[in-house]
Amino acid sequence: SLSAGPEPLREPAEPAALRALVEKALARHGADAPNVAAIADTVLAAERDGSESHGLFRLPAYIRAIDLGVINPTARPRRIDGPEGAVVIDGDGGVAPAAYAIGLPAVAETAERLGTGVLAVKNTRHFAALWHEVEYLAERGLAGFACTANFPYLAPAGGKRPFFGTNPLAFAYPRADAPPVVFDLAASAMARGDIMIAGRDGRQVPPGVGIDANGEPTTDPAEILAGAQLPFGGHKGSAIALMVELLAGGVVGEVFSDEAPLNEAGVPPGGVFVLALSPEKIGGPGTLARADAFLARLAAEPGVRLPGARRHKNRARGGPLMVQSALLATVRLLAGE
Ligand code: NDP
Repeated sequence: SLSAGPEPLREPAEPAALRALVEKALARHGADAPNVAAIADTVLAAERDGSESHGLFRLPAYIRAIDLGVINPTARPRRIDGPEGAVVIDGDGGVAPAAYAIGLPAVAETAERLGTGVLAVKNTRHFAALWHEVEYLAERGLAGFACTANFPYLAPAGGKRPFFGTNPLAFAYPRADAPPVVFDLAASAMARGDIMIAGRDGRQVPPGVGIDANGEPTTDPAEILAGAQLPFGGHKGSAIALMVELLAGGVVGEVFSDEAPLNEAGVPPGGVFVLALSPEKIGGPGTLARADAFLARLAAEPGVRLPGARRHKNRARGGPLMVQSALLATVRLLAGE
């Protein structure tokens, strides 16, 4: 909960019209059809689900990164050699969702066949939320885990300067007659996008979110962005961030956050690690039904909701999206309107 500040002006936008605008802006900056589709899908799905920090808000930075040559807007990701059980993709310097177009179906097929599958995406730019990829797997009856590192933004437990990325990780588990259970969270106390939004809207953030460039606690978004973010849960979140570095950088064979070359667009180069598991293949027939009953018991606990439920509720609501007016104006300019 952020401290009160002026609420930015918003206006309704029809999803189809918003999509056309996003596509026009991307195409105008050199993205070709598959890359336009991959970015538009990601941005609009986040906006639709009420995940504002990874929705339309990200589009100007995607475009800035294309203009700066940080994102290849005509990338053609391809599968490269890897051991059985691992799908290794060279993302061709494009956005991760473009690599997923071939990587996710392949890792799902691998997990359905072998029980487990790893997707390692190299040479990619992950700048989005991660629930997208794990939800894809859960919709095919698989449990999914995904994580990615980014830039040195987060001070490790005990540290005073940024070293780890904010290192998000996501997990999804399939359900029989309900949307999958999905959680997706950054290892930082607050997602960087939310700190940026607080700064934009003139709000302070709660204590514990970050430190300034001298390592002193602060609630000022600008000071934190110039200093370091802090992990959630002290040494526990710090350990999670470390694990993400060693999966997305170590196992995938890509850069660690402290090696990632900074760029003006704030779009990190690096790798993505995805794990797909078949509960029915590993646990035996009936495994999914048992978990489904467990999740039903959990959801019936007073005061408890399943992670992912907020987004699924927003999705089911449909209708126009309430978009920040200044952001919409920026996107219109980017589209040449
Ligand atoms: P949040 O703290 O907003 O949410 C974390 C998770 O907890 C969500 O899955 C949410 O589900 C769930 N949750 C929240 N409240 C409850 C509750 N009361 N009961 C049960 N579950 C709950 O996430 P963050 O701010 O940490 O991260 C935001 C996004 O930023 C993520 O999508 C992440 O992938 C992205 N990110 C991407 C980066 C990148 O480099 N690509 C870097 C850092 C972050 P629900 O959605 O249903 O509310």
